[in-house]
Amino acid sequence: MLTPQQLDRAVGAVTASAAGDALGAAYEFRAPVLPPTPITLHAAPPWGLGEWTDDTSMAVPILQALARGRSLDDSAVLASIVGEWIGWCRSAKDVGLQTKAVLAGIRHVTEDDARASARAVHDQAGRSAGNGSLMRTGPVALGYLGEGQADALAAAARRVSELTHFEVDAGDACVVWSLAIRSAVLGGTAELRAAVGALPGARAAVWHARLDAAEAVLPWELPANNGWVVGALQAAWSALVHGSSLREVLELAVRAGNDTDTVAAIAGSLAGAVYGAAALPAEWVAVLHGWPGDEFRAFGAAELEALVRRAVGAPVAE
Ligand SMILES: [Mg+2]
Repeated sequence: MLTPQQLDRAVGAVTASAAGDALGAAYEFRAPVLPPTPITLHAAPPWGLGEWTDDTSMAVPILQALARGRSLDDSAVLASIVGEWIGWCRSAKDVGLQTKAVLAGIRHVTEDDARASARAVHDQAGRSAGNGSLMRTGPVALGYLGEGQADALAAAARRVSELTHFEVDAGDACVVWSLAIRSAVLGGTAELRAAVGALPGARAAVWHARLDAAEAVLPWELPANNGWVVGALQAAWSALVHGSSLREVLELAVRAGNDTDTVAAIAGSLAGAVYGAAALPAEWVAVLHGWPGDEFRAFGAAELEALVRRAVGAPVAE
């Protein structure tokens, strides 16, 4: 059983990611926004005030599976998550190009078919390391908080990533971020360097150098290509390293510009696990909402929290 502080951090891994997603939605595909210009939560059509985007929408089916007590080690569970994504994709306001191509190429809704489609999209494009699997990895760690489950988490994070993203960088990113989320929920600190150490030696050296580069500068001083999973992780990590509160981390992530909602969703999944859901500004939590709700606030922070509580076996108020 988690302590109240651990539970707050587990909730934060999901709700702070959703908050970063909603905060960044209004700034997507634009130039960096430098201080002292404030970052504000505001509506920007098609996104309403506090509305999250595809990043959180794709994380929700993973969280729902865990809330139902299912294991991500189960191929049938992964297939059901893919099925939920395909259904969501039909009416979604935005779907990443790579993810859309992979979901469209799935003939039978199975893990094997998803992986085959991801491979085919990779072979056609010559690359597939977009940030679209890292953006949804926040809930994965919640299924592996028990003692000695770090290795199982690493395997599951890569497997869930590979449902849509074939390239090894995408899987690596999901592994290290998920392990860091786990360490933050359990112990209150993001042990990202230790997580990188879990990768095979040559891969670990590459990622340590990438973290060195991210730590040396502010998010908006990094290269603009944060649609790439490596650039997105670097911008999110820079925001975590340089921010001193949950709010500041999310604002710094949005300041990076370009794929702002995804960078802030990624930053939020780890920063929320460090600072806890209680550190989110109340005025953001009050308006947070998105799919699978179809009306304003039909599905919001309270619903996300209830799912997290079920996922980690904590009591849920009826
Ligand atoms: Mg998005």
